[in-house]
Amino acid sequence: MDSAIRPLIAGNWKMNGVTQNLSQLEALTSGLVARAATCDVLICPPATLVRVAATTCADGPVLIGGQDCHFEKGGAHTGDISADMLVDAGAKFVIVGHSERRADHHESSALVRTKAQAAQEAGLVPIICVGETQDEKLAGRALEIVTGQLTGSVPDIVEGGDIVIAYEPVWAIGTGMVPTSDDIANMHGAIRDWLAGRFGADGATIRILYGGSLKPSNADQILPLANVNGGLIGGASLKAEDLLGIIDAL
Ligand code: PEP
Repeated sequence: MDSAIRPLIAGNWKMNGVTQNLSQLEALTSGLVARAATCDVLICPPATLVRVAATTCADGPVLIGGQDCHFEKGGAHTGDISADMLVDAGAKFVIVGHSERRADHHESSALVRTKAQAAQEAGLVPIICVGETQDEKLAGRALEIVTGQLTGSVPDIVEGGDIVIAYEPVWAIGTGMVPTSDDIANMHGAIRDWLAGRFGADGATIRILYGGSLKPSNADQILPLANVNGGLIGGASLKAEDLLGIIDAL
């Protein structure tokens, strides 16, 4: 953890959550207020809940984000939502390039970059996800894959840390498996070096999150590592109690 960078704990609810789950946002808010938490906390619910979640969390410590956006501002794209629509609904961040979208929707790094740019233009902070598969890791290609995804997905213009990078090894997502602390620290260090090489001083201010089976039971080993500036959390973000357990590890 780099004390100069305010950590971000971001929850990705994926395709989970209906109106009754908003009670978790209220519980999360109460828990954060009681702790006077010193990190930013974000929940990215499904698109159907973004507006009501933002209303539920208005003026509180929990920020709301989207899980994806289209690269265009509007038009004939049935089923898609634009970055402007997310802003209108109260979102502050949007996840782009999650491995589930790269796999399920065949999203390329070039497409992810256009989405990240659309988010920036709309005033959202894109959380750009990168990470290698198990086969790529076993082949010793993790760094090459992550660097390639960064090169392809990160916009050319970044100001004052208005993007976030999430390193999420695909094989660690939802599996209970996590990389060794050395592997996480080495990859985050390599991402920091890449950001510094590309953006100079601005690169030192960009938050790099770790994601993949982050839980209350392992957060105290992962979150303090160098260049880990918070986490992107799937399963353990669905219950306020679990997310607060991770935040306590900070
Ligand atoms: C994710 O999907 O971004 C994620 C990190 O999931 P989980 O925490 O469930 O592994």
